[in-house]
Amino acid sequence: MPKVNSPQFTIEYEDVPSVRESFGLQNPKPTEKVVRVSSSLPDDIPVAQRETSKQVAPKVASKRWLIYGSLGAIALIASIAGAVVSWQIRQAQFSADASSSAETQAATGQDGTTQSRPKGDVILGHYAYKEAAPTDLEVAEGSIRLKRSAAAAYREMVAAASQSGVNIVLISGFRSVADQKHLYFGVKAERGQNAQERAKVSAPPGYSEHHTGYAIDIGDANVPATNLREDFEKTAAFRWMKANAARYSFELSFPKGNEQGVSYEPWHWRYVGDIDSLKTFYKAREN
Ligand SMILES: [Zn+2]
Repeated sequence: MPKVNSPQFTIEYEDVPSVRESFGLQNPKPTEKVVRVSSSLPDDIPVAQRETSKQVAPKVASKRWLIYGSLGAIALIASIAGAVVSWQIRQAQFSADASSSAETQAATGQDGTTQSRPKGDVILGHYAYKEAAPTDLEVAEGSIRLKRSAAAAYREMVAAASQSGVNIVLISGFRSVADQKHLYFGVKAERGQNAQERAKVSAPPGYSEHHTGYAIDIGDANVPATNLREDFEKTAAFRWMKANAARYSFELSFPKGNEQGVSYEPWHWRYVGDIDSLKTFYKAREN
């Protein structure tokens, strides 16, 4: 049995007697029918997509049968009438070639529609992060904990802002995967959001920068109504952060139009002031 192989599909053909052959004509090309289409698509391709893909080859096969059926009838009439047989053969050859090339294109199409796998461990634009060990955390403000290096830098930064009359408050720091589970799935259900809508404003558990102990959500103590809202960008606290945060090794994680596709979060910053935090936020993405 001849086979056509693509990275995803194996299409096997079975030779069937040609109509032309039965009339003693030289057969330019054996007719074929698809007897089996096996897929080696990985399991994480959605079932719906796989089903759609599988149906393409049998459709082509049934079209081929129609074409060959017609050719058979034409050949029969031609030989009975004693018409110009060679002309018919040329036409048959042309149709067979056209049919084969249509099939080849269909197979190429399968390859073309293959989705490239995301690099690294990413869900809905969020990267996977390990939860910080409790022993690496310390209280940065109130009862909110951060990695030691980030906590020290944060306190220094807030003290400097305060000297300029700007009152930065910590709203959130380290968050466990369990906390995030509640935050993501609980709020998602409460707001009736689907997974994609929710992922734009919150990371799925296991995929939040807050797990690392390096990320902070901050507010302006003078304008608490802007907490965790986009209009936090209009506060003195945000303006001060834009101008000074880099001095303390904090950077905005999700600026406007970020390539992760996460909503703009002017309140969410991350510490990138030591090698561990740099590896955490940058190394995994370059693979
Ligand atoms: Zn945050």
